Amino acid sequence: MTNSDGIINSGWNLDHSYARLPKIFFSTLEPNPVRSPAIVKLNSSLALSLGLNGKTLQTEEGVEILAGNKVPEEALLLAQAYAGHQFGHFNRLGDGRAMLLGEQLTPQGERMDIQYKGSGRTPYSRGGDGRAGLGPMLREYIISEAMHSLGIPTTRSLAVVTTGETIIREENQPGAILTRVASSHLRVGTFQYAAQWASEEELRALADYAIDRHYPDAKAQENPYLFLLQEVIKRQAELIAKWQLIGFIHGVMNTDNMTISGETIDYGPCAFMDVYDPATVFSSIDREGRYAYGNQPYIGGWNLARFAESLVPLLHDTQEKAVEMAQDALSDYSRLYKSSWLKGMRAKLGLINEEEQDEALIQDLLGMMKKYGADYTNTFRWLSFDKQKKSVLFGTEEFTKWFEQWQARLGRQENSQASSKQLMQNSNPAVIPRNHLVEEALDAAVEEGDYSVMESLLDVLSKPYAHELDEGKYCSEPPDSNRPYQTYCGT
Ligand code: AMP
Ligand code: MG
Repeated sequence: MTNSDGIINSGWNLDHSYARLPKIFFSTLEPNPVRSPAIVKLNSSLALSLGLNGKTLQTEEGVEILAGNKVPEEALLLAQAYAGHQFGHFNRLGDGRAMLLGEQLTPQGERMDIQYKGSGRTPYSRGGDGRAGLGPMLREYIISEAMHSLGIPTTRSLAVVTTGETIIREENQPGAILTRVASSHLRVGTFQYAAQWASEEELRALADYAIDRHYPDAKAQENPYLFLLQEVIKRQAELIAKWQLIGFIHGVMNTDNMTISGETIDYGPCAFMDVYDPATVFSSIDREGRYAYGNQPYIGGWNLARFAESLVPLLHDTQEKAVEMAQDALSDYSRLYKSSWLKGMRAKLGLINEEEQDEALIQDLLGMMKKYGADYTNTFRWLSFDKQKKSVLFGTEEFTKWFEQWQARLGRQENSQASSKQLMQNSNPAVIPRNHLVEEALDAAVEEGDYSVMESLLDVLSKPYAHELDEGKYCSEPPDSNRPYQTYCGT
């Protein structure tokens, strides 16, 4: 099928609700062609669920579209404006290396943003080149898709194309464009931008838009904007609890990298923790540990306070009352986070009912894991089975005592041991995208053009709870040569 411009119809069914917002929130763009685009990865199952034809996406013309060289009918390219606290400092930002193609209306009736990342300069590029490297775009592909399979709300990755151009970084890299799919790209930073530079009417338009798109129930509420705030707080509390439970470290939790939808976004210097330690930081630029594993829940609250501040003009006519309402809503965050985390931790330990001392039992285990340098994922994985592997932690007297307490605790619930084990196996992944495996896959792809290592890794990561597969090397802890592991921004 071709449309009137002769462009193959891959199933694009685009709308542009964001472009109907006041002009201050975006800049329209022209295509910014790249030299010779080639597709290196397509997510066929995601394409299918979006109503896109994977086969035509891979034709020359389909790839031209994924590279931003051509636009499908009804496309309208734009870059979104936003601001953000980056490591605590407020800056005016925006899509400096991304463009929105539109919102794909899927066969399931969803509205999903289709965004190209690495697609060239925009009015918000500041000093940047608007481009992205192949390694970092493949990294985002691998980790975001792994997060999705782990059951964590996230933006997803539809495709990676190389551009045929070289981008200049510390080490020159092949240029690439990632097609990112998100339930929206509204960020806390979008609201900060509105509060700082837009009129109250424009801020209200943005809030109404977020409500329409993500929290339609708010419309029936007495105070829809307070409801919006409360719901975003709830979703972010749940999201960050999920990160903690799985050992995910985002790495750059700036307010521009926190969504209103509650999806994880912007996979830059993120990485999974191996050895349990709340102080774990992988990002080379996070020298103070602002975004360390153990600090993520606190930073989540800090970012949400910035969101609440942005909404103040909408919450109530009198500022004093509005601030009070915002503070009330924010005071719920810790409780919501804690209860999500506790629920998830109970599941990781097979606890189906609740006892008051559960938290102490959990903290004792975590404390020992830190003390003995135990691998976070594998400790829970081994506890999920009857036969535990020999490890430094499991060999200690301290652990034996804890284990007896845990067994006694399990014995005090009516549910069978088998149902506890099942719950544990469903809550403790067999595989995560371990840093050394991700690096190995990226090296093969970027240095040698060999994508087979990445394909095998992606295959394993798509079934993280399939313990019966016994994934051998994919479950193995990193070699000492991989420690300390560092990740880099500009990714
Ligand atoms: P990030 O660290 O990816 O969340 O990006 C923070 C801000 O820097 C956003 O406004 C990005 O659009 C912008 N940015 C990051 N990389 C580039 C680049 N290569 N060129 C232009 N802008 C960029
Ligand atoms: Mg960002």
